[in-house]
Amino acid sequence: MGSFKLGRMTMRSLLGKPATAMYPVVPPVYFERTKGHVENDIETCILCSICEKKCPSQAIVVDKPAKSWTIDPFRCVQCNACVIACPKQCLTMVNTYTAPATSKSTLTVTKAEAAS
Ligand code: SF4
Ligand code: SF4
Repeated sequence: MGSFKLGRMTMRSLLGKPATAMYPVVPPVYFERTKGHVENDIETCILCSICEKKCPSQAIVVDKPAKSWTIDPFRCVQCNACVIACPKQCLTMVNTYTAPATSKSTLTVTKAEAAS
């Protein structure tokens, strides 16, 4: 009985659908509340640095003179602390993951009046 069960499990593993997906070739299915990555509506941001201070992984850098906000998505652990702490509600936890990359990079957004 035991060996029959083992044989059936083995055949199911060999011939059945893989238990894992070939990410990123097969796009993942995102749920409504998936904690994917943080985005900032920079025009609403007041560059107060509260998110930078709240971040447990030092993933955010606010540069007030340059009017820029930078996030290192490879440091972010999607804890949502910055989103909750932001007094202007300009941070959003978007439900898609950061795309895989061969090298680490940061993402900077700058206020329009500073960029022009
Ligand atoms: S907490 Fe909000 S308003 Fe303050 S710097 Fe961060 S994103 Fe901008
Ligand atoms: S979600 Fe958490 S780890 Fe990611 S930037 Fe915000 S506070 Fe930092």
